[in-house]
Amino acid sequence: MKLEAIELYRLDLALQGPVGTAAGEHRRRPVAFVKVVTDAAVGWGECAALSGGTAVDPPLAAVWEQLAGPAARRLVTSARARGGHVPPAAQVARLFDASPPGRMAAAALEMAVLDAELRAGRATASLAGRLGVPPAGDGGRVPVGAMVGIPADRRAEAVVEAVAAAVSGGAVRVRIKIEPGWDVVPVRAVRAAYPDLLLQADANGSYRLGSEGDDAAERLSALDGAGLACIEQPLPPADLPALARLSRRLGTPVCLDESLTSLRRVTDALRAGACQVACLKPGRLGGLLAARRAQQACRDAGAGAFVGGFFETGFARSAHAALAGLPGFTLPGDLSHPDGYLDANPVAYPPTAGGSVRPYGGPGIAPPPAPGALAGAGAAVVVPAGR
Ligand code: MG
Repeated sequence: MKLEAIELYRLDLALQGPVGTAAGEHRRRPVAFVKVVTDAAVGWGECAALSGGTAVDPPLAAVWEQLAGPAARRLVTSARARGGHVPPAAQVARLFDASPPGRMAAAALEMAVLDAELRAGRATASLAGRLGVPPAGDGGRVPVGAMVGIPADRRAEAVVEAVAAAVSGGAVRVRIKIEPGWDVVPVRAVRAAYPDLLLQADANGSYRLGSEGDDAAERLSALDGAGLACIEQPLPPADLPALARLSRRLGTPVCLDESLTSLRRVTDALRAGACQVACLKPGRLGGLLAARRAQQACRDAGAGAFVGGFFETGFARSAHAALAGLPGFTLPGDLSHPDGYLDANPVAYPPTAGGSVRPYGGPGIAPPPAPGALAGAGAAVVVPAGR
């Protein structure tokens, strides 16, 4: 596949309503798409970066700068060294540095090259096949999970209503956001309304271990009776020894999310005993192929894992649905329908009724973004491969 151009598009999407977390509120959801144009096929990739970033992820503007500058140039240079041919998807991530913007840019470009390879018929036509997902009799359907934020008015009834909407939208697992002072009440309210629901709580690093009178272990052990599948990122991401100490004191498994910024961090966390469950986000880890390696590391260590989301459009979410069929993903991923959180979803996503979703069968990762949606793209940048 000879590289002809790399194009970037930015869509200024919004969430249907504000999503509160312990680390701040999400409102708008601008999305960057990368289009890799080759002589054999066109491939699309979606950038995971959020408008304002997170504690460990760069904001979209920083990743856009990478994509439009050094990242695109590196792909062009690599192609030139191959007589103009795009490097294989499996080699794209290694072209980029391990900085957070570098990893997110790598993930978007790798996704686009994978998509082009699938469409060009160089590999299995579906992403699930390319990732080595074992064939399943039910078309490879994977269970669907959804996320519910902290309501602005802090009413337990509001969380129960949001969980009801998620369940009626097809979710068989719900993870609710918590923070110190907003934990026991919402968890117990949801549990009372849904005694059998697969339920998780996500603290986004907001508790502290050993704070006088406000100790994370004491506060969070109050949730032990609620039958949570896990408590996600209870402490700040960097301190793996503290997370390991906390996990020894809790009856509920500890899940890590923001701590897992690279495959190396995943293996460090598993080895430290800090991670019984992993929320693996391909965009943060540097791509779908890195996430595949990370789920294998979790599986080898006997830890659970699920595919985590960043309010993707139907494009990246379709990629995640395919990825989620790998056997290391033991819990339902963030695979709910984008129509449930985006004001306008530019890429079709399969129905999530019945608690599961059938990954897109190809060719490619998902249908390309709707031309009408791209016509309104706020900014497009073209990097010609010949330059
Ligand atoms: Mg999280």
